[in-house]
Amino acid sequence: MFASLQGRSAIVTGGSKGIGRGIAETFANAGVNVLITGRSQADLDKAVADLSAAPGKVSGLSADVSSPEDARRVVAEAVERHGGLDIVCANAGIFPSGRLEDLTPESIEEVLAVNFKGTVYIVQAALAALTASGHGRVVITSSITGPITGYPGWSHYGASKAAQLGFLRTAAMELAPKQITINAVLPGNIITEGLGEMGQEYLDQMASAVPAGRLGSVADIGNAALFFATDEAAYITGQSLVVDGGQILPESHLAIAEL
Ligand code: NAP
Repeated sequence: MFASLQGRSAIVTGGSKGIGRGIAETFANAGVNVLITGRSQADLDKAVADLSAAPGKVSGLSADVSSPEDARRVVAEAVERHGGLDIVCANAGIFPSGRLEDLTPESIEEVLAVNFKGTVYIVQAALAALTASGHGRVVITSSITGPITGYPGWSHYGASKAAQLGFLRTAAMELAPKQITINAVLPGNIITEGLGEMGQEYLDQMASAVPAGRLGSVADIGNAALFFATDEAAYITGQSLVVDGGQILPESHLAIAEL
């Protein structure tokens, strides 16, 4: 049994949609007060309205994770609204596809700025507040793509997701004396609003590559993130947890066909 996280304060970047919204919902249902961010005010307003019945209070703030100034503003608002900050979920990310021959300095920079630098900026901005909490927690949303697997069209994305894990290991050492843990969740294919629009046939095809026989839900990721945020996970840091229904395990498509 895990101790209650009721009344704790969290930031979830990219919490207006998809996986981030799922993380925010899981935390709010555990009584955590959650500040969600994203650039679109309309998406933030919708998520806040949809999550208004949860025991934890959910509020939104429009901010761009690739801006260090915005990161500092987000942290200051969370501290102001919740009276402190205990948990940061560095989740916001983009995944534009582009084959190697089509990548440009701008397209590479954009993916690194949001996915990698955005992770560093929010953790940096939160350092003092997480230290003051006495049980600070950082949970990064990385991916299986990059750290473990590859996918044509996503070399820059995969590099940004692997970069998050390179950052994580040294950050974990620097943060440990402050009693702050930092860990990562590596999702497989998770159903979000965007993926849902691709149609059932496409979803079924994707699910057929997963030993569990289904795609992941945003709650699957939210639950893993929540575990890292618990008091009981205080001695786990610098680690990454694959949440993918076994997707990375088959050594070939023949192995899946044997199931
Ligand atoms: P999503 O549904 O597109 O949601 C992305 C969220 O990030 C939105 O709230 C978006 O809001 C926000 N965001 C994007 N760029 C931002 C920026 N510059 N500043 C602030 N917020 C920004 O994506 P998702 O599928 O949930 O992905 C979330 C994370 O999970 C990403 O890090 C992704 O790499 C990772 N992931 C996803 C999957 C999957 O299957 N879905 C698998 C592995 C890993 P705005 O657009 O309004 O800014």
